Amino acid sequence: MIVAGKGAEHFMPAQTYLFSCLADNFGVLLHDPQSGATASIDAPEAAPVAAALAKTGWRLTDILVTHHHADHTGGIPELKRQHRCRVVAPRAEAQRVPLVDERIGEGDRVRIGSLEARVIETPGHTAGHISYFFPADKLAFVGDTLFSIGCGRVIEGDAEMMWRSLTKLRNLPDDTRFYCGHEYTAANIRFAKTIEPNNKALAARAEQVAQLLTAGKPTIPATIGAEKAENPFLRADVPEVAEAVGLAGSPAWKVFAEIRARKNRF
Ligand SMILES: [Zn+2]
Repeated sequence: MIVAGKGAEHFMPAQTYLFSCLADNFGVLLHDPQSGATASIDAPEAAPVAAALAKTGWRLTDILVTHHHADHTGGIPELKRQHRCRVVAPRAEAQRVPLVDERIGEGDRVRIGSLEARVIETPGHTAGHISYFFPADKLAFVGDTLFSIGCGRVIEGDAEMMWRSLTKLRNLPDDTRFYCGHEYTAANIRFAKTIEPNNKALAARAEQVAQLLTAGKPTIPATIGAEKAENPFLRADVPEVAEAVGLAGSPAWKVFAEIRARKNRF
């Protein structure tokens, strides 16, 4: 297999380790087997990250921050003290993240050993929120911008900004697996069914998610391709969805704003 940018015989896929922390946050480690480098995507709290490192035997070299909220950065000081790892954070809100070493923005490249991410600015939830896309492995870490069958609350930006951010993630390859910041999928599905009660892909996903949760398993990663068929927040430019919220013919961002407002009240 030839993989762009890598010697075929040397390509070793990235490994991930997903775990839960705080009330409903996901933690995830990204490991490069070739170099041994390991990144924590955000750092909700130190102890579960430390436990994940102990379990995998991986050594923490980097923390990739998506946004400044405390439930994504609270573990940084302790992890930095223990591991002297590099902290990479969005330039636009780096002053609100502890102990930042590297400030990054749209189009920048970040290396974790031999793995390389492209930075995608995805503002809306916070003004400087970023996502990390690893093209060789088709992995994306999207923080609180995109959730499975949902999206983050629009706190610091506006609906038009958030819609633009979501479409940037929607444009990633369909087989991209993405990791988000929270396990909200079941509640998101209950809401999504109020927008698209006849969406068959969504109904199938609902069954799959129920089985995963019953088995005590996480509902992510999900793929961008599946979300495009099932997530109403990525479907604001689908005529049937616009019609369902009484906004046929309106710009997609206005349809998105209405869906987001309904979710806030749900
Ligand atoms: Zn957040």
